[in-house]
Amino acid sequence: MNPFAYDRPASVDAALQAIAANAAHQGTANQHEIRCVAGGTNLLDLMKEGVTIAPHLVDINRLPLDAIEETPDGGLLLGALARNADTAYHPLVEERYPLLSAAILAGASPQLRNMASNGGNLLQRTRCWYFYDVATPCNKRTPGSGCAANGGITRQHAILGTSEHCIATHPSDMCVALAALDAVVHVQSVRGKREIPFHEFHRLPGDRPDVDTTLAPDELITGIALPPAQGFVRHSAYLKLRERLSYAFALVSVAAALDIGADGRIAAARIALGGVAHKPWRLPEAEQLLVGAQPGDAAFAPVADALLHGAVGRGANDFKIPLAHNAIMRALHVATRGTVTNQGIKETAR
Ligand SMILES: Cc1cc2nc3c(=O)[nH]c(=O)nc-3n(C[C@H](O)[C@H](O)[C@H](O)COP(=O)(O)OP(=O)(O)OC[C@H]3O[C@@H](n4cnc5c(N)ncnc54)[C@H](O)[C@@H]3O)c2cc1C
Ligand code: SF4
Repeated sequence: MNPFAYDRPASVDAALQAIAANAAHQGTANQHEIRCVAGGTNLLDLMKEGVTIAPHLVDINRLPLDAIEETPDGGLLLGALARNADTAYHPLVEERYPLLSAAILAGASPQLRNMASNGGNLLQRTRCWYFYDVATPCNKRTPGSGCAANGGITRQHAILGTSEHCIATHPSDMCVALAALDAVVHVQSVRGKREIPFHEFHRLPGDRPDVDTTLAPDELITGIALPPAQGFVRHSAYLKLRERLSYAFALVSVAAALDIGADGRIAAARIALGGVAHKPWRLPEAEQLLVGAQPGDAAFAPVADALLHGAVGRGANDFKIPLAHNAIMRALHVATRGTVTNQGIKETAR
C-alpha cells in the first residue's frame, strides 16, 4: 500500500477544512471520493490492491454524524456515520421503512454491516473485476485506458444505461431501496450545505466513468433524509438474486413498494432495480402505469417491459434481461401480499 498522511478531526468544520485542502491538492476526479475514510470496508481494500491511491486520508469516525433522528415532516434523517447494521435494526427504520431495512440486511455480512457506514455505502465503488485488476485497462480506474469488460467476461455487468466507455454496475443494495424511497442526500463543504435528490446523486457512465456521483471533491456526506413513506409500509419487498444466498453482490435486485387503497387498486408505486446499471435504475413513467390498476400479472407485465426497455446484453449477461423481468413481477406480487420484514413476510389483510 502507498504511504499516506492521516488526520482524525473531531469536528465537522475541521474535517471540511482538511477535505478542502486535500481536494485542492489532489485534483483528479478519479480520486475525489477517497479523501475520507469511514468504515474502511471498501476503501482499504482498494488501497491495498493499488486500485486507489490516497496520499492523505481524513478519518471521519470522530464526527458527530451517527444519529438517526425523526424529522419534523414525519421522515427520518440517517446520519452518514450511522452503521449499516444500526440503521437496519433501528426501531423507526424497521417500523417506517421496512424496505430499507430488508435491503441493507440483504447486503454483505453481519461483520461488514457493523463497520460499514451509510455515507460509505453510497460511495462504494463498482465490483467490476477488471476495475480491481490493475493489470487490465479500465476507464473508471485510469481514464482513457479503455474498458476490458467490453468484449471480456460480462456476467455481472450492466444491461441498461451503459456507454462504450463503461458497462459497470453499482453494487449497493441499500441504494436501491433509497432510490425507491426518494431519499435526499445532505452534503456539506466549506462553501456551505446542499441537498441532492437521490436520483441525481449517482451518475450514468457516459464519457466520464471515473466519476461515480455528483458529489463535489470537497463535499462530505452528512446525512440521508427519508421523506414520509407511510403509504408504502404495508406493501413492500426487496428481492435480491445472486450466485449464493449470502455474502454475494446482486445479479439483479428489485425494491418494490405499493400503496394499495381500500378499493384494492394501486394508488402509488415505486420500483427500483439494482445490478442492472451504473446507478439504481428507476423510471417514474413506468410506475405511473400502475396507478389505478388492480394488482396482478396484467398490470405488472407492462411495467416490467417499460423498466427494461432498451436493455442490451453482452452475451454472458443476456440472462439478466429475463431474470430482471421475472424479478420485477415477483417483487410486485410479494409486495401485493404484504411487507417483507426482518422476521419474514408480514401479510397485509385487504
Ligand atoms: C466482502 C464484501 C462483500 C460485500 N457485499 C455487499 C453486498 O452484498 N451489498 C452491498 O450493498 N454492499 C456490499 N459490500 C460493500 C459494503 O456495503 C461497503 O464496503 C460499505 O457500505 C462501505 O462503507 P464504509 O463506511 O466502509 O466506506 P469506506 O470504505 O470507508 O468508504 C467508501 C468511500 O466512501 C467515501 N466516504 C465514506 N463516508 C463518506 C462521507 N460521509 N462523505 C464523503 N465521502 C465518504 C470514502 O472516501 C470512500 O471513497 C461488501 C463489501 C465487502 C468487502
Ligand atoms: S466496465 Fe467500467 S469499471 Fe469495468 S473495466 Fe470497463 S471501464 Fe472499468
